Amino acid sequence: MSDADGRVLWNTTLAGSSSPQAPAAAVLTNEGNLVVQQANGPALWQSFDHPTDTFIPGMRMRLSHRTGKGDRIVSWKSPGDPAPGRFSYGLDPSTSLQLLMWNGTRPYWRTPIWEGYAVTSLYVNAGTVIYTALVDTDEEISMALTVSDGAAPTRYLVTSSGRLQLLNWNGTLSAWVTAQSWPPSGCSTYSRCGAYGYCDVTAAPAACRCLDGFEPASTADWSAGRFEQGCQRKQALPQCGGIGIGFVAMPSMKVPDRFSIDSDNRSAGECAARCAATCSCVAYAYTNVQSSSAKDELIKCVVWAGELVDAQMIGPRWGGETLYLRVPVAAASTVPVLALPNTGRKSSRHAVKIALPVLAAVLLLTCIFFVWFWRFRVKGRKTESQNKTTDTLSKIRGDDTGNLEFPSIRFADIVAATDNFSKTHMIGRGGFGKVYKGTLEGGHVIAVKRLSKDSDQGAEEFMNEAILIAKLQHRNLVRLLVCCTEGAEKLLIYEYLPNKGLNAILFDSARKAVLGWPTRLGIIKGVARGLLYLHQDSRLTVIHRDLKASNVLLDAEMRPKMADFGMAKIFGDNQVKANTRKVVGTYGYIAPEYSTQGVFSVRSDVYSFGVLLLEIVSGIRISAMDGIMECPSLTVYAWSLWGEGKAGKLVDPSMAESCSQDEAMLCIHVGLLCVEDDPSRRPLMSSVVSILENGSAPVVASASLPAPNQTGYLKMMGEKSQRSNLENTNAMTMTALQGR
Ligand code: ATP
Repeated sequence: MSDADGRVLWNTTLAGSSSPQAPAAAVLTNEGNLVVQQANGPALWQSFDHPTDTFIPGMRMRLSHRTGKGDRIVSWKSPGDPAPGRFSYGLDPSTSLQLLMWNGTRPYWRTPIWEGYAVTSLYVNAGTVIYTALVDTDEEISMALTVSDGAAPTRYLVTSSGRLQLLNWNGTLSAWVTAQSWPPSGCSTYSRCGAYGYCDVTAAPAACRCLDGFEPASTADWSAGRFEQGCQRKQALPQCGGIGIGFVAMPSMKVPDRFSIDSDNRSAGECAARCAATCSCVAYAYTNVQSSSAKDELIKCVVWAGELVDAQMIGPRWGGETLYLRVPVAAASTVPVLALPNTGRKSSRHAVKIALPVLAAVLLLTCIFFVWFWRFRVKGRKTESQNKTTDTLSKIRGDDTGNLEFPSIRFADIVAATDNFSKTHMIGRGGFGKVYKGTLEGGHVIAVKRLSKDSDQGAEEFMNEAILIAKLQHRNLVRLLVCCTEGAEKLLIYEYLPNKGLNAILFDSARKAVLGWPTRLGIIKGVARGLLYLHQDSRLTVIHRDLKASNVLLDAEMRPKMADFGMAKIFGDNQVKANTRKVVGTYGYIAPEYSTQGVFSVRSDVYSFGVLLLEIVSGIRISAMDGIMECPSLTVYAWSLWGEGKAGKLVDPSMAESCSQDEAMLCIHVGLLCVEDDPSRRPLMSSVVSILENGSAPVVASASLPAPNQTGYLKMMGEKSQRSNLENTNAMTMTALQGR
């Protein structure tokens, strides 16, 4: 066999020829590897050693420690031209701790650094988990993939535009479906925000910002969206060796590139001390990384000298590292300061100077905490002795949020109910923290949400959820049974819903068939009624602000109950909308006027409902349309089918048999009205409920409803959501700061 230039790659002779060589055969293995080998001999050539644009389970991506050379997955020139393109993907030869996508010879984007796990798993959907293993030998480091048993065929693809896509084979559609796609946002491209800048992917949309203690080098450029010049220090560092150095901590970061591993230092204090004592050190992180040269040892001190480039803030949900930036102590006074560890007499004096105010502040806070705790506990005990339930929430909040008769429970009882929060009891995880199934003494089964200490949905959301849901009672809202606040622990205890989140069934190809059309219609109607109750029928007007499939829980009979009121807002009697600088919600479900101007109202909830409705009818998640049917989002896909008069094709094939076409068309029509660009054109939930409840009556046939309008926003957001595509398919709640 020869290549295009006539160079012989391998040759063989036929059986029975006069050559002494044994005959060779080409075998295509079950994994998809084409192997040419002589009988019982080693492989002469195999396709897995010559990857093109695709990486599949069974292949290995290697990097030689000796030569620094490694395998690269190379993109096609264009979608129709398989000649080698500009982009390639492989292990970073300078560190072997991260993977890089190159554009020619320049880095184009990079992964977070390897945290030292030999095997990591990526949950794609209920049927598919991908395991990535890194094997480090004296010769080389190599990466290999395996997938869970029974998973659909899975592959990674480097596209001709430099994206890395994770593709799953969808037997029903007979097509590769993009499960995930990287990088997650435009500002994730390498060094997009310049030196000392970082891309904040927790914002919506993702935005360039300056690292703490830095400001834009050119404000004019920065506000015009040109970030190449990056950022500069607000305050110069004192001369090296002089007094006044501190560190400011930035948590949840994908740390900058061009780091080095300080393998001599093993403790956090030593790491900080080493950086403080080294004039060129501008930052350090104390983290779990594994160096290829250190074999089994976990090396935890990572340091930077020179410019800090290509950092990202990824938010606590995605892990990340805490980056400690060297700053003048004056700049560090308003932010967490790490006192310098003992590096000699001089620096210990500095440490005292920094540590004393911090210690004083800590003592003061501790005193305040104890006073608060003492008052709370004394009151709590008094009430206990009167054998009454504790109105925990009004007491904690100390306001007049209502006469809540709200029972509390002892933390010890929850510990016992969940077997000390054991892994086997964990049933889910959200922005709030982990969720556990528990059984109270007496056999009552509960779901326990435990506020994670590093949750970005903090105590405020905890209170919000507890107070609101305690005040609201409807059969389509999840029931909060009790809450527990003891010490730092904050727990919400709900009725347990055995079928958990709608997302877990609706988007799982193996399980979705249990959701026949009558069940789905029941879910749509139930959610609509629950939302109507929130908007109109309860004593309050409540805007949920985070309606999505994972916030619809299903009971044993598949009846829906809305959950997660951490982000909800109560409106006053005559209030119709509100503005916020803090846009919360989940990509894809957020209404345009909310994401762009921060305006939310009952109509922004209607928008989320419309998206959810289209998901339920189609069985396709809003964030999963990347690359399917050439449509960037589910709403755009629904629109295009509607425009072509083929809306029936949107119906999930897994329940097509049980589906009433008229009802499905009516639902799709309502869904498209709900996702209209102009909020005033979206129906109120009272109309939605009435249309759905009377769906079978001829007067409410789809033809009698106003025609939905397609808007530019849908196209634009479709493109945006394709670009951002969330880094994940779970589409968790995002919290983002955004100007009005
Ligand atoms: P986010 O916080 O980003 O909105 P989420 O809604 O998935 O994400 P949680 O509300 O914390 O996060 O719930 C996580 C998972 O825990 C749910 O998807 C569901 O599977 C499970 N869960 C939550 N509450 C209950 C409950 N009452 N009964 C049974 N399972 C529950």
